[in-house]
Amino acid sequence: MEKKQFQAESKRLLEMMINSIYTQKEIFLRELISNASDAIDKIYYKALTDPNIEFNKDDYYIKIIPDKENRTLTISDTGIGMTKEELDTNLGVIAKSGSLAFKTEHEAKDGHNIIGQFGVGFYSAFMVADTVTVISKALGSDEAYRWESSGVDGYIITPAEKEHVGTDIILKIKANTEEESYDEFLEEYRLRQIVKKYSDFIRYPIKMDVKVT
Ligand code: ADP
Ligand code: MG
Repeated sequence: MEKKQFQAESKRLLEMMINSIYTQKEIFLRELISNASDAIDKIYYKALTDPNIEFNKDDYYIKIIPDKENRTLTISDTGIGMTKEELDTNLGVIAKSGSLAFKTEHEAKDGHNIIGQFGVGFYSAFMVADTVTVISKALGSDEAYRWESSGVDGYIITPAEKEHVGTDIILKIKANTEEESYDEFLEEYRLRQIVKKYSDFIRYPIKMDVKVT
């Protein structure tokens, strides 16, 4: 399977994220939850005009699954999902709009605070994860695909297994360094706190899988 390269601008943003120039790493969760919510919205709006789609509220939710043993954090949604092509175009290219240029320009001038106001998107996952795996099945498709990247040297898309339509984002949480601990992003109470702080307004239920030892 051929490794694909990120576009130049995406690469720049990715580098910023990997080097974690932002101090508020926790906002990655806001970004991923907001994408999950957008993905559910897309089914919701489709259902309004397409009588073949039934929108049963109970079927639509976002789930956060911390796994300390494997050091992974999964953000799962039952949204519209992505086709193979969409994984490629939506996650390989960032800043389709001019908003990135705006964000980074102001970031440099005003320091780190602006990140609280503007979305930085999917790549913010790389602030806390050294590998990001996306497994997705698009609405109306029988096939699922896995998008995987460990950073600037590109990403790989391969066929995958997934029962339900939607997307799982699996973050391999970084190992602690002398300066920085990432363990908090595997702690239930901490995740709960971050969700409350940034994602209180999300219209869909945000659930958490809790391990009972
Ligand atoms: P934005 O949300 O501003 O468009 P992002 O970087 O957050 O930018 O996400 C890029 C794109 O990737 C989204 O526009 C969407 O098309 C796709 N995407 C990301 N996460 C999901 C998801 N959970 N389900 C479906 N599509 C997603
Ligand atoms: Mg987004």
